[in-house]
Parts: sequence; C-alpha cells; structure tokens
Amino acid sequence: HKRIEKRISSGTPFFSLEFFPPKTANGVANFLTRIDRYRDGGPMFLDITWHLGSDPANIEKETSSSSIAAACLAYCRVDTMLHMTCAQYPKEQTLKHLQLAQNLGIRNLLALRGDLPINDSDPSIYPYRALDMIRWVRTHFGNYFTVCASGYPKGHPEAPSYAADIAYLKMKVDAGADFIITQLFFEAETFETFVADCRAAGITVPIIPGIMPIASYDSIRRVAELSKLTIPKHIMDTLESIRHDDEAVTKYGIHLAVEMCRRLLDSGVAPSLHMYTMNREHSCREVLQALGLWQHESIRSLPWLPHGGHHPLR
Ligand code: FAD
Repeated sequence: HKRIEKRISSGTPFFSLEFFPPKTANGVANFLTRIDRYRDGGPMFLDITWHLGSDPANIEKETSSSSIAAACLAYCRVDTMLHMTCAQYPKEQTLKHLQLAQNLGIRNLLALRGDLPINDSDPSIYPYRALDMIRWVRTHFGNYFTVCASGYPKGHPEAPSYAADIAYLKMKVDAGADFIITQLFFEAETFETFVADCRAAGITVPIIPGIMPIASYDSIRRVAELSKLTIPKHIMDTLESIRHDDEAVTKYGIHLAVEMCRRLLDSGVAPSLHMYTMNREHSCREVLQALGLWQHESIRSLPWLPHGGHHPLR
C-alpha cells in the first residue's frame, strides 16, 4: 500500500474529500454512514478538519477531529488525513496531539498554524506557525507522517506580500511538507498563476487546488468574508441576479466548478482535486461526476434513475 504522497505523484487524476467533524456524539454514526456513501465514489483520501475549540481535554472525545479521523480510517477503510493547528497550544501540547494521532494509526497530517483570535493577533502570544509544526513533526516523528501544507493562491491575508507568502511556503516545503493543498479560489487563472509562481520559487511538490462549489448565496459570501477573499465581479453579478432561487445558485456553482476543474485537469496544472464538501453531498458529487472522477457514474446513467437522483438502495 503506497503512501499518499507517492500516489498523488502517480499522474492519475483523483480527488480527496474534506469534512468537518460532527458536533455531537449522536451525530457520529450519521456522519460515518454518510462518509461510507462518499467512499463509494472512490476518493483517494478523506480529510478531517481540526476543531478542538480552546479545550485540549476534548482530544479524547468521540467528536474530536482525531477520533473522527481514526473512525474514518477504521470504519471506512480509506486513507485519511487529519488537519492539526498549533498556534493556540504550547509546543508540548501539540506534540501530545501528534503522539495521539500516531497512536490512532493516522499517517497523514495537514500541518497548520490556525486562525488567531480576531482581536488578539499579537505574535508574541501566538508564536508558532505551520513551519514550526512541520519541523517538530520531522524532528520527533521522522517520516512517519506524510505532511501536507496549506497554500494561498492570492497570498495569506496576514502575509506582508504575495511574494513573501510564497517564500514562506517554500520554507514549509523545505522543512518537510510533501504536498500542498490550496485555499479556495474562484477562477482557474488564479491557481495557474500561483502554481507558476511556486514553481519559479523552486517549489516542486504537488499542488492540489482546494475546490468549493458555490452552494448558496449566503454561505459563499460568509466563507469569502471569513477567508478574506474577493468574489470576482462577474460571479457576484450573476449570483445577485439569481440569489432568491436556491436551485439556480446551486446549479450555477456546479457549472462554474466543473468548468474551472476541467480546465485545470486538462492542462495538467492540477494533479487532482481537493473538495471542500462542507459536509454536504450534492454539489461535490455532481462536479466529480461531470468530470468523470466519481466512480459510480455508470450506475446513475441507468434508465430507472432520475437525473440527479439517488441509488434506490441507499
Ligand atoms: P502559516 O503557513 O503558518 O502562515 C501564517 C501567516 O504567517 C502567513 O501570513 C505567512 O505568510 C506568515 N508567515 C509565517 N512565517 C513567516 C515568516 N518567517 N516570514 C514572513 N511571513 C511569515 N483552520 C483551522 O482552524 N482548522 C482547519 O482544519 C483548517 N484547515 C485548513 C485547510 C486549508 C487547505 C487551508 C488553506 C486553511 C485551513 N485552515 C484551518 C485555516 C488556517 O488555519 C488559517 O488560514 C490560518 O490563518 C493560517 O494557517 P496556516 O497554517 O496556513 O499559516
């Protein structure tokens, strides 16, 4: 069984699916059933975001990110990547989180700084960055973990400049990151430019675009605001004109994502797609089906299945 960084570089397009952990213990069974359904589509790996709140004691709870990633691995038997942030913890605490991840059999990490509290971004209070965590992983765990780093096609909002952010990304790769997944973006060109700039800066590892199909007018505006991203005017204009028609917005979002992903895959600039599912099934599955990456396409084309419908046995 090859490690995921080897499979990513194999040249065959694939996709990965990102989820956030369920909030309640009751939600866990439901969540795993849903993931099991996604698994049928053939993702190369599942990906679980990091949410511990401010209470490190939560780490052992069944709804913690580590527990959910371990459950995905054990129950769904698909490679799983766990996000982990380091800014809000002392170094020793992060080492404990890493140790637990190793004990749970998790092999893949997305090493992150994490967002700083909005009114409290004094770097002396939160000294650690993703770069520190990547170094700790390599120092204390050798090559046990495959490490992914985050990349920002428009530059991270706190970075002194776009160029400085790319230089910093290069440091993360030099410290041991095996591949990169990007923040979401809205136009193929944004990703193409970013990859070209990374390559010019000497970053040679795979760079996977993070894709979030626009699913609703309100949610994409919220996400853009939180991530400090500007939605391009032509997209915003279209969204404004259909904002009261949820179905039209979803369809438009799928259309945009399919067009963008097709261009990125066809030109080879993207080795694969990382889907921000927001724990919703519909849009990501539609996009992957349209691109021919979802494995069960043939089942859906059978005459008794209404377009966009579900397999009757599910
Ligand atoms: P870093 O790579 O550490 O960079 C932080 C900032 O510091 C950047 O502006 C960088 O340019 C600057 N910087 C660092 N070192 C230097 C230096 N030496 N010189 C100059 N500048 C420097 N958040 C969560 O809480 N949970 C998640 O699960 C999660 N998943 C994510 C997944 C992806 C793919 C992405 C893109 C983001 C995710 N985030 C998540 C959000 C992330 O935590 C925030 O974007 C956070 O603000 C930055 O984290 P980072 O690891 O990317 O930062």
